[in-house]
Amino acid sequence: MRCGSDEFMIVDHEVIIIGAGAAGMMCALHAGRRGRRVLLVDHSDKPGKKILLSGGGRCNFTNTGASPAQYVSCNPHFCKSALSRYPASDFIRMVFEHGIAFHEKKLGQLFCSRSAQDIVNLLMGECCKAGVQFRLQCKVSSIARLPGAELGSARFSVATSQGDFQCESLVIATGGLSLPKSGASGFGYEVARQFGLNIISTSAALDGFVIGDYSDLAGVSVDCLVSCHKISFRENILFTHAGLSGPAALQTSLYWNHGDEIQINLLPEMNCFQWLLNQKQAGSRATVKNLLHELLPARLVDKLCALHFSSSLSLPQVSEKALEKFCHLLQNWCLTPSGTVGYSKAEVTRGGVDSAELSSITMEAIKVQGLYFIGEVLDVTGWLGGYNFQWAWASGWAAAQVV
Ligand SMILES: Cc1cc2nc3c(=O)[nH]c(=O)nc-3n(C[C@H](O)[C@H](O)[C@H](O)COP(=O)(O)OP(=O)(O)OC[C@H]3O[C@@H](n4cnc5c(N)ncnc54)[C@H](O)[C@@H]3O)c2cc1C
Repeated sequence: MRCGSDEFMIVDHEVIIIGAGAAGMMCALHAGRRGRRVLLVDHSDKPGKKILLSGGGRCNFTNTGASPAQYVSCNPHFCKSALSRYPASDFIRMVFEHGIAFHEKKLGQLFCSRSAQDIVNLLMGECCKAGVQFRLQCKVSSIARLPGAELGSARFSVATSQGDFQCESLVIATGGLSLPKSGASGFGYEVARQFGLNIISTSAALDGFVIGDYSDLAGVSVDCLVSCHKISFRENILFTHAGLSGPAALQTSLYWNHGDEIQINLLPEMNCFQWLLNQKQAGSRATVKNLLHELLPARLVDKLCALHFSSSLSLPQVSEKALEKFCHLLQNWCLTPSGTVGYSKAEVTRGGVDSAELSSITMEAIKVQGLYFIGEVLDVTGWLGGYNFQWAWASGWAAAQVV
């Protein structure tokens, strides 16, 4: 698919971007608007596949509260420049100008009201207006740096299944490893390694946890506080056949490393022990289990009582010490997941090209002039809630100003 004229089989481009996802299209349209001749290459048959799958088909395209605090990276300062120069409001303006209906779901998360296709159409439409050429189903077999290349002349040659191309600026926007069926590949990391750039080790994230012993709770959902390394998320968890999903578990998986414990406060709004004591003082003769059914899903209470408590005892029969111990468990339930669910379900890849290798202003590799990395391929990973697209827009925009 080509938007710009390709009649003369132009093999020379000022900019080649590999990866027509969120970051790649954003970079392409802004570089095109600057008058740069841009070629956008992707091995998939359509651009923006992950955008189409995102947000349950409605694409949570940004978050009004996006700030560096919601990103995980070995260098937490790296994302500051791009995020501050291309804030969420800039992307929202573009969405607004295109007449795309959207709404806030919760916590600043903006979703398309109709379909994620609206965002893909916006990006492709703007790319076309800016004269960007697309080459889809185009496999890149090798990249080489041209000897003696100077600014203003070709610095890289890119060999593909559709011919060889040369460019002055080469932008790698191939994303991370999550969701292989969307066209994800480790290509960006290979390019980084080829040019001697360091990679921060990668792992699946925003994918939830594998936890044995609780598969019988599959389908149970509870609003709670989940913590790992003193970072806490107050949202729902959902028990699945494999373990724990739901937004709070997904968010926590971003901070989790093998062997770590996670802590769950099932009743974050109250002091459970005090509440039960009050019931006792008021003369309640109910079982602890039945009382807890008022606060938490019955299947969860029954399971935890069966595992950790004499569930048939009525309140007056239970010692305060035993009650306090069980309440402590409900409010500080420690679990050690055996792993996270993995790339097949992960929304993102944590880690990636080491940001210490790049300029935070331009995304250009410090030791390889003309080579840029943007989007998820970098070691910048956002929380669930529109933050990852905001990073794709901001980093794509930042590179587009200089490529
Ligand atoms: C199911 C799901 C739902 C999500 N929902 C949200 C959400 O609602 N909000 C949010 O902020 N984030 C969400 N994310 C995360 C978000 O989609 C990504 O962080 C974002 O798409 C990253 O943008 P990117 O351009 O860096 O990479 P991508 O969008 O993944 O684009 C990379 C592109 O590179 C191409 N490519 C890969 N390898 C090659 C190669 N070797 N040669 C040529 N092309 C190649 C791919 O085909 C793809 O088109 C979700 C992710 C998933 C998996």
